[in-house]
Amino acid sequence: MFLAVRAARPRGVSPVSETQDPHVSPSADAVKFVYDFTEGNKDLKDLLGGKGANLAEMTNLGLPVPPGFTITTEACKEYLESGEEPAALRAEVTAHLDALERQMGKKLGQADNPLLVSVRSGAKFSMPGMMDTVLNIGLSDESVNGLAEQAGSERFAWDSYRRLIQMFGKTVLGVDGDLFEEALDEAKKAKGVKVDVELDAADMKKLVGQFKEIVSKETKRDFPQDPREQMDLAVRAVFDSWNTDRAKLYRRQERIPGDLGTAVNVCSMVFGNLGPDSGTGVAFTRDPASGHQGVYGDYLQNAQGEDVVAGIRNTVPLAELEQLDKKSYDELMQIMETLETHYKDLCDIEFTIERGKLWMLQTRVGKRTAGAAFRIATQLVDQGLIDEAEALQRVNGAQLAQLMFPRFDEKAKTELLGRGIAASPGAAVGKAVFDSYTAVKWSRSGEKVILIRRETNPDDLNGMISAEGILTSRGGKTSHAAVVARGMGKTCVCGAEELEVDTKRRCLTAPGGVVIEEGDVVSIDGSTGKVYLGEVPVVPSPVVEYFEGRMHAGADDADELVKAVHRVMAYADRVRRLRVRANADNAEDAARARRFGAQGIGLCRTEHMFLGERREMVERLILADTGEEREAALSELLPLQKGDFVELFESMDGLPVTVRLLDPPLHEFLPDITELSVRVALAESRKDSNENDLRLLQAVHRLHEQNPMLGLRGVRLGLVIPGLFAMQVRAIAEAAAERRAANGDPRAEIMIPLVGTVQELEIVREEAEQVIAEVERAHGVDLGLTLGTMIELPRAALTAGQIAESADFFSFGTNDLTQTVWGFSRDDVEASFFTAYLEKGIFGVSPFETIDKDGVGSLVRNAAEAGRATRPDLKLGVCGEHGGDPESVHFFHEVGLDYVSCSPFRIPVARLEAGRAAAESKGSDSR
Ligand code: ADP
Ligand code: MG
Ligand code: MG
Repeated sequence: MFLAVRAARPRGVSPVSETQDPHVSPSADAVKFVYDFTEGNKDLKDLLGGKGANLAEMTNLGLPVPPGFTITTEACKEYLESGEEPAALRAEVTAHLDALERQMGKKLGQADNPLLVSVRSGAKFSMPGMMDTVLNIGLSDESVNGLAEQAGSERFAWDSYRRLIQMFGKTVLGVDGDLFEEALDEAKKAKGVKVDVELDAADMKKLVGQFKEIVSKETKRDFPQDPREQMDLAVRAVFDSWNTDRAKLYRRQERIPGDLGTAVNVCSMVFGNLGPDSGTGVAFTRDPASGHQGVYGDYLQNAQGEDVVAGIRNTVPLAELEQLDKKSYDELMQIMETLETHYKDLCDIEFTIERGKLWMLQTRVGKRTAGAAFRIATQLVDQGLIDEAEALQRVNGAQLAQLMFPRFDEKAKTELLGRGIAASPGAAVGKAVFDSYTAVKWSRSGEKVILIRRETNPDDLNGMISAEGILTSRGGKTSHAAVVARGMGKTCVCGAEELEVDTKRRCLTAPGGVVIEEGDVVSIDGSTGKVYLGEVPVVPSPVVEYFEGRMHAGADDADELVKAVHRVMAYADRVRRLRVRANADNAEDAARARRFGAQGIGLCRTEHMFLGERREMVERLILADTGEEREAALSELLPLQKGDFVELFESMDGLPVTVRLLDPPLHEFLPDITELSVRVALAESRKDSNENDLRLLQAVHRLHEQNPMLGLRGVRLGLVIPGLFAMQVRAIAEAAAERRAANGDPRAEIMIPLVGTVQELEIVREEAEQVIAEVERAHGVDLGLTLGTMIELPRAALTAGQIAESADFFSFGTNDLTQTVWGFSRDDVEASFFTAYLEKGIFGVSPFETIDKDGVGSLVRNAAEAGRATRPDLKLGVCGEHGGDPESVHFFHEVGLDYVSCSPFRIPVARLEAGRAAAESKGSDSR
């Protein structure tokens, strides 16, 4: 995504290209750096930033927006690259400023009747760390008097001027903002008043003097009196703010490309601080938490800009504006409706009322909670504003996944300790521990623990595995803690910088001074980043209750969220082309998968069927010296395996079940080499060595591998241990026959792992077909079994055309394929250096989380094509963890697979994303 964005934004053409005839005016070809609000629209966010594009859109809708213009991101990019404003910019700004002055009938900073403007940053994505808006630009020692006259209020004029010096001093000139705040507090104290509106003109005048002194002292220069200089400096400061540390950090965390640049908006001022008939406010067109329609917002009389959200005075709920100023209120309601209908979505807005006249200062499609996203999508469908396909684009799998985690009871009383970055969702409660060793020790004795570290590193891995959740005070969404926790599906809050972690003293200090010692209970919310003192009760997610069938969307008392999720899922199921199957190894998982909407099993691993009590039989199989011994061991295993399959086919009756024959290396079924060596050595020293242990040790040595992942496993096992695969195939066939006899509808598919060449598959196939034919003859049925292979080695993908000659289906094993294509051993690389790779931007997300489209993905695409060229009816699926990853699901849709298979819990996410992918590609086809 990172690269795509870059590639899609061509560099601007230079204003005068070399090939151009110098006599022809360059303006025809030159880049345009400045757009009047009347010239833009909401689709120009790349160029005008979000704020500028939406100001233009509102202007063109005929809404009351104070006139102004936007300097483009292209100008910013040139400035950032060359360190200077592009040559053409100054003249263009002058032309637009002239036009604005003519329109307003006043000149910027003019002594008797000044035009004032605000300078506002606005990138494509809003981000912290960008320059704060500077209001009232154009005021000076002279024009402040003009403003007083114009407005008929000395106090207002001097208040505006002191605000300018304060904002400009802090954000443009870099003066410590506290110095101004302290002076303001002093003034209030001296006068014995509490809030700034109680200061009069003389007080403000005095403050202006003090503020100017602060600026001179701190910056060794006077506050600039030239209005154009004020404006130009502010514009430049906005450009510079693109590269503040906070902005850079945020972009890295959110994977926003570093070279987009920001636009700058110059907007003529309107004043909410002109008295009680003026004010400023913020509003949502509907509740961003629930989606309910209504009047949501805050209003503050006699105030400017951010006053309303700064908490300096008490705001009133927006509904009260109706009493204060009915005309403006009614107009605002009208505008909010216009905006919702126009944007067809929840909008948030900023407005100002100047002496009874309403002005719109900002709007954008508002952020919302995951739950509200689903509700709003269905509400908008009901209102006829969007169709079902569009509703699918308004939600996503990550939001659905968030709604499926258990959560803290909202009604519970909580004590917030602090907050960090929501790195891996979930609600975890446990006793605080400050090192990995204690985490492991305590959890072994049955305690639930939260591992608290400043940062984690590979040494913390065992502690992270034993903990309920992980809390760190440092690091962002790509820190070691965050990456590893997400990989494990563990709750994690990271980068909670306000919490001071002292691992030596084993304690954590919260901002309020509360100290958490080892053993104290804390609760962490990985969906919000909040950290609480004590145990917050956890409730199951109603969405999971619904998927489990314990709550019905049709019921009268059904949760509104559940109803919305139910409807959106129905839209997705209706349009999606990809089928969704589950990775499930036992009847219980299979049953849950079915409740969650699985259309079969895409991967049933058989290895667990060889563990537990059956391990001894496997040992006998491996140690067998003669064919008889081996046969004996296999015939012991056969009925047990068959029993497993009967259950599984029953719970997936009528749906396909892909059974993968044994995959892992044999040593996994044998005792640990060190343990066994010690046992044998001890026995020898006591002179009572056990014959079996000795043989076992020899076998362990014989089977010991340097790289088990690349050793004797998968189809290779089936080829060197006579009878093993035949036994598994027989168990499957007999189970199917038994289900048939019971009037069931088993649909088994036999899958051969780790095939690299068609010859391997041919040999296995021949043997399997014989076994199946035998079973079919014995029972007098046609079982309709199919036989296919995993594609999980590069060689298999590269020779897929040949392999398809012997395969009825392919299932892409993208976990192993990723390991083998990259040469990564997942367990090793994730813990040791993935963090470094993510931080350096080598990849944006782990290729084990989201499919690497260019590498692994291109093998998948080519193998799918080659396979289908050989066998047009070849069934294609994927059974790696990518099958449940939103972005990967879109990719699999696009390359034309038939199904994805994922863990039961991810099935709803895969269904939703498969629907979104289908709706999206339909939309782009018809465009
Ligand atoms: P942010 O991105 O932080 O919301 P804004 O550019 O929207 O910054 O401006 C900060 C505050 O100043 C907002 O309350 C906004 O409504 C107000 N504001 C911005 N420009 C003007 C203007 N020209 N006249 C009056 N208020 C303004
Ligand atoms: Mg704003
Ligand atoms: Mg594999």
